[in-house]
Amino acid sequence: MTQNELVMDLTSFCRELPKVELHAHLGGSLSQSTMLQLKRLYADSGIPDKTNAFFDEFQIAAGDTRSLSDCFQVFSIAHSLTSMPQALALATSLTLEEFQNDGCVYIELRSTPRETPYMSKKEYIDTIVQAIRRSSINLTIISKLIISIDRRSTSQSAEETTDLAIEFYQNYPEVVVGIELSGDPTAGQFKDFVPALTRAREAGMKITLHCGEICNPAEILEMLAWKPDRIGHGTMIHPRLGGTTETWEALCQLKIPVEICLTSNVNTKLIANYEAHQFKECCEAMVPVIICTDDKGVFATSLSQEYQICAETFGLDQSQVARLALDASQHIFDDDARKLVTDKILNFIECKEL
Ligand SMILES: [Zn+2]
Repeated sequence: MTQNELVMDLTSFCRELPKVELHAHLGGSLSQSTMLQLKRLYADSGIPDKTNAFFDEFQIAAGDTRSLSDCFQVFSIAHSLTSMPQALALATSLTLEEFQNDGCVYIELRSTPRETPYMSKKEYIDTIVQAIRRSSINLTIISKLIISIDRRSTSQSAEETTDLAIEFYQNYPEVVVGIELSGDPTAGQFKDFVPALTRAREAGMKITLHCGEICNPAEILEMLAWKPDRIGHGTMIHPRLGGTTETWEALCQLKIPVEICLTSNVNTKLIANYEAHQFKECCEAMVPVIICTDDKGVFATSLSQEYQICAETFGLDQSQVARLALDASQHIFDDDARKLVTDKILNFIECKEL
């Protein structure tokens, strides 16, 4: 086989592999084609979408000079295109379809409920929940929702979001599975959100926290000690990447699964390059890792591409790549779907004799 054929082989293998996506923000996952369809919807409705096709600005590629805080500004484009319920529903269904087309069999999509001129926070959640329910008729991908709390929000707003999250979790347990803390890591303090997050946990919801995106060992230790079900990124936990011996030892001891977003971390310059990622150290320390996209639209990637990058960077063979997907399936928040998804991946491994 030539080098090119080998690369092609890995590309199609990663695409075909049944995968689970556990860290995908709806707004950041919008593809250019989805954004074009949303723009058309706004044009047809006679409502200005306030974006002037800033698609180039929406994507943050490798070598981009923008910082992590600039990256949060690009989300205003996605927000503007999903301010109407019809647009939000369309964005949800098109995004789920794209993940399915990429070989994803299970997804936990996440989104921060917002009040817009066209809907309340409650209507925002309901729109996504109903879009997910409808998508289950046409799509084979199993889709769930994690409701996000933005770190920039006030305690009162976080409490409101939590009330709604618990209400929807109780009414639609087959769709809403968890709650998460995300947004600008330099804003807010974890401890201010603990009461709301604890309430969600006591109601039975699963919790994931964006953790270690900036150098803040004290907060990382607080987060890990709180024992979330998963954490996102976990970049600045290892001493080599800005963490401390204490933060790394806490993670190794607690073995909290880490949602790893390779391209996102490289393109936002949290790490210098793929090789510098803590993936290897996590694997060696038996800390569970889950390959995820974070914002596939913003970072022009896909879940299968992230698996391929991981395989190429860390020299994994097909059997090891397939086991990454299998291990990831152990950490999905929906108990009922876990066995189904695991069986699907095991089936694939058996068929491919890996
Ligand atoms: Zn994220």
